[in-house]
Amino acid sequence: MKFQIIFATGNQNKVREAREILDETPFFGGTLVKTMKEVGLSSDPEETGKSFEENALIKARALAALLPKKDQERREFAVRHGFDPDIPIVVLSDDSGLCIDALNGEPGIYSARYMGHDTSYTDKMNAILERMKDVPDERRGAKFAAAIAAVLPDGREYIVRGEMPGRIAWKIAGSNGFGYDPFFYLPEYGKTSAEIAPEEKNAISHRGKALRAMFRKLKEL
Ligand code: IMP
Repeated sequence: MKFQIIFATGNQNKVREAREILDETPFFGGTLVKTMKEVGLSSDPEETGKSFEENALIKARALAALLPKKDQERREFAVRHGFDPDIPIVVLSDDSGLCIDALNGEPGIYSARYMGHDTSYTDKMNAILERMKDVPDERRGAKFAAAIAAVLPDGREYIVRGEMPGRIAWKIAGSNGFGYDPFFYLPEYGKTSAEIAPEEKNAISHRGKALRAMFRKLKEL
C-alpha cells in the first residue's frame, strides 16, 4: 500500500534523516512525512520501556491515541493538514541509542538522558572518552541501534530494528549527523559517522536499515 507518515518525534535530526532515506529509496520518494508538531499535536510519554522496541512502541501508541478515531473525522484531519484522505496515515516513531561494549551496553536506551537531557553532546562524549581513556582499540567496539515502530489507522502495529556497528574513536571529529556521531568511528571509512556524507551514513546507518525495512513492510500490505 501507499502510506503517509506522522513522525512521533521532536528530534529534527531524526526527521531530516527519515525524509532523506525515503527520498533516496525507489518507490517511496515523495511520501509525505509530517512531524507531530506540524499537525498541531504534542506527545512526550515517559519512556518506561526496557528496550528500544518497547520505547518506540510507547511513543507511537501515545501519538496514535491522539488522532481522530471516526472515519469522517480522520478524513477531515487529513485534508486539514495537507494529507491525501484516501491514503492511510501511519504513525511512526524512532527510539535509538548508542551501546558501548566496554561500558556494558551503556548509554543504550538512556543515550538521550545520559548526564541529563540538557548536557551538550560535546560534554557527554568527552565524559565517555575520559571513562574509556585506557580501553584499547580492540575493546572499543560499539553500535548504534534504532527501533522503528508503526501504528496503522486500523490499529495494526509493526516494529523493526536496525544496527550500525563501529568503534568509539579516540577524539571527536566531524560536524555532519548529530548526537554521538562525532566520536563514532567507522573503520571501513577511517572516519567518524559525522565525517561521512549524509547519504553515506543513511546507506549504512541503524536508522536507514530500520526505516527501509519498515517501508518495505508497509509497501507489502
Ligand atoms: P531517543 O530520542 O530517546 O531515541 O534518543 C536517541 C539518542 O541516541 C540521542 O541521544 C541521540 O543523540 C542518540 N542517537 C540516536 N541515533 C543517533 C545517530 O544516528 N547519531 C548519533 N546519535 C544518535
